[in-house]
Amino acid sequence: MSKGAASAAVVSVGNELLFGETLDTNAAWLGRKLATLGISVVRGYTVGDVAEDIGWAVRDAIQVADLVLVTGGLGPTPDDLTKVAVANVLGRDLVVDDRVRESLQARYREQGMDDVPPAAYDQAYVPADSESLHNAEGTAPGIFLSCDEATIVLLPGVPRELEDIVSGSLLPHLERLQRDSSDRVWHHVIHTTGVAESRLTALVEERLADVPDAERLGVGLAYLPDLCGVDLRFTASGLSRDEAFARMAPLVQSIEGVVKPYRFESDSGDLAEAVSQILRERGMTIATAESCTGGLIAKKVTGVEGASDVFAGGIVAYSNEAKIALLGVSAIDLAEHGAVSETVATQLALGVSDLLNSDVGIGVTGVAGPSGGTEDKPVGTVWIATSLGDEVAATICRYSGGRDAVRAKAGQAALAAVYRRLVDATA
Ligand code: ATP
Ligand code: MG
Repeated sequence: MSKGAASAAVVSVGNELLFGETLDTNAAWLGRKLATLGISVVRGYTVGDVAEDIGWAVRDAIQVADLVLVTGGLGPTPDDLTKVAVANVLGRDLVVDDRVRESLQARYREQGMDDVPPAAYDQAYVPADSESLHNAEGTAPGIFLSCDEATIVLLPGVPRELEDIVSGSLLPHLERLQRDSSDRVWHHVIHTTGVAESRLTALVEERLADVPDAERLGVGLAYLPDLCGVDLRFTASGLSRDEAFARMAPLVQSIEGVVKPYRFESDSGDLAEAVSQILRERGMTIATAESCTGGLIAKKVTGVEGASDVFAGGIVAYSNEAKIALLGVSAIDLAEHGAVSETVATQLALGVSDLLNSDVGIGVTGVAGPSGGTEDKPVGTVWIATSLGDEVAATICRYSGGRDAVRAKAGQAALAAVYRRLVDATA
């Protein structure tokens, strides 16, 4: 290792990434993962399954970063060219790694075959002077190697395999690189939802203005919005972990009061995870009755590991008939107030928690658009009700954006409402 490991570059390999058939979730995951280790990704490359292009990207990357992670193109198929390309860049031969060969043989024998098929055998070849990284989720190992300019890590494209290697066999290497580096970047992230970026910025900046300049020195703050909320990311660099967090602490404290109504706690930044965690801590369950969100909320909650402990079930009650038959919504109220109304949202929340015997209920009904809006209920009007036992709270929301945006925002707002109520219930 010639320099500190503060900076990394990610090279994503695959025609499917260029064609837009596959989203480059690996680069995003690596960026987040490395940030938690104090290593920042300074450049990203996307190239096709072309040896020259992979070589070009790696050659460039080792000039700008201390750690270069290449994802994809490691498998046994003819379009998997990453190893050849990297070996070329470094002027090294491909040699058989005995450990990989043996584990391949063992794997194929387990499947009842005498020997490794010749194509699969290619996976045992690695650039000279490299170390293979065990892949518990698949056959192609990760590959770790150093050259004068940088440390290079080759990782499979399959996200599950990549994540397993990085969090497993690569982790000690990354921790060592990070310990050796002199210029690390540390982040403290606060997740918020239910507040517009402009409003949040105004609230936060007003508080920060009171912090003496000397205390703000060397700490950066970025506002990172998406459809579902805004993350505040404080950054401090060139310090040890403890020093960096000590430096950020007064700023974080100064804004605590203004972000509190919008803040949620979740390592991944996923609000459904935050809701699930708090439900689990309290031994409570949730059920959902969704109209305009069509099951989005149920999908989010069930996307969190261990959902069966907290999720009783969900019903997509789209038509009036379904609302009446499945959830006991009053036909008279539907006729009188319309499906998008406080009373129907309330009956959905109570109906589903009663039906599925849950502690918490969600009822969502709205006009997602693009058609179906009226003068008093324009597109984007959504009623969200949450029940906690017998107590129901309902709010009307008006969202801008297309159908997908309205549905995503409504789903997030419903989860945020549950989260707030659960947090406030103890406060
Ligand atoms: P394999 O052993 O499966 O051939 P590989 O290392 O050669 O693995 P690829 O062939 O490039 O990887 O991709 C395997 C799978 O992983 C594909 O389904 C692809 O869509 C997916 N994949 C590849 N790169 C990425 C990426 N950057 N982000 C998300 N998924 C990816
Ligand atoms: Mg492949």
